[in-house]
Amino acid sequence: MCIGVELGGQLARVTLIENYPGTGPVSGTEIIRRTESMVRKYSNVRIELDEVVRVIPEESMYRVLTRSGHEYRTYAVIVASGKMPRRLRVPDEEKYLGRGLSYCVVCDAPFFRGRRVLLVSTYKPGLKMEISILGLYCSVLYWVPESVPEDVINDVVSELRDKVQVLRGYKVKSIVGDEKVRGVVLEGPDGSEVKLDVDGVFVELGYEFRTDFIKDLVQTNERGEIVIDTLCRTSREGIFAAGDVTAVPFKQAIIAAGQGATAALSAAEYLSKRFGLKARRLDWHKEFSDGFRIRLKL
Ligand SMILES: Cc1cc2nc3c(=O)[nH]c(=O)nc-3n(C[C@H](O)[C@H](O)[C@H](O)COP(=O)(O)OP(=O)(O)OC[C@H]3O[C@@H](n4cnc5c(N)ncnc54)[C@H](O)[C@@H]3O)c2cc1C
Repeated sequence: MCIGVELGGQLARVTLIENYPGTGPVSGTEIIRRTESMVRKYSNVRIELDEVVRVIPEESMYRVLTRSGHEYRTYAVIVASGKMPRRLRVPDEEKYLGRGLSYCVVCDAPFFRGRRVLLVSTYKPGLKMEISILGLYCSVLYWVPESVPEDVINDVVSELRDKVQVLRGYKVKSIVGDEKVRGVVLEGPDGSEVKLDVDGVFVELGYEFRTDFIKDLVQTNERGEIVIDTLCRTSREGIFAAGDVTAVPFKQAIIAAGQGATAALSAAEYLSKRFGLKARRLDWHKEFSDGFRIRLKL
């Protein structure tokens, strides 16, 4: 059984993907549609649109509680709850997503060839690489660094020379545009407002990992990502994790898909070791108070 707030996660917001093998250039929603149709055609996985609010270990199983009040019991859990980029928190931010506003330099920089771009970023490993990628494509790069060490700023300035303009102490107040981003209004360190004409806004302020419902059970790192081993096992027996929510540093759709396959095989192996070969034929029904019929078929 698969429980998700929605189908598709971040991919639902990706207009064009050019690095997913076997599809050619394709929208995120098309990958979701094809994946859902495969799951429905070739497996008996039940899909429930709901939010998991807690996972509680009980005896040899886990109780999974959802926002709508349902409760499911399972021997193994795969967490693939992804991540949410930290927002700028300006008006109309959602409206411009995929229309000039991006939270992923590595994914979207090639769409801004020859364009004027604003980057708002905190410091993180890989930041210099991301800025170099942006520098390859855009014509002008305005950069609002937040808590970025001076030596990193100086390195970037010396690498990109005329292309980059560093706006220390500035804050984005609003995005200006019509159906696309056309500019931004910034507030300077002295409180004055400046309007910049840009075609793109990149926000790299880190991520919020969605682990509230499980973080007491499994080991997470300082960023809140779930720590896994090479078989996608977490620190707790019977709980596996895959995709962007894990501590694996590269957050891409193909990597999440590969980890999903690894986690599923690891969970199957775990169950078959626990229950022996009979696990393959285990067909388990149970009625719960809410009247839901739960079927765990391995
Ligand atoms: C703008 C943008 C462009 C991108 N472009 C590319 C690209 O070109 N190529 C590429 O490879 N990758 C790209 N990515 C990255 C790619 O989308 C992610 O790596 C991938 O979607 C990760 O999948 P995931 O399933 O791990 O997490 P997510 O996509 O984050 O999905 C997690 C799902 O879990 C749900 N969820 C969270 N908490 C709960 C809960 N408690 N209960 C139930 N459900 C829950 C969420 O609602 C969400 O639906 C892009 C991302 C963005 C934002």
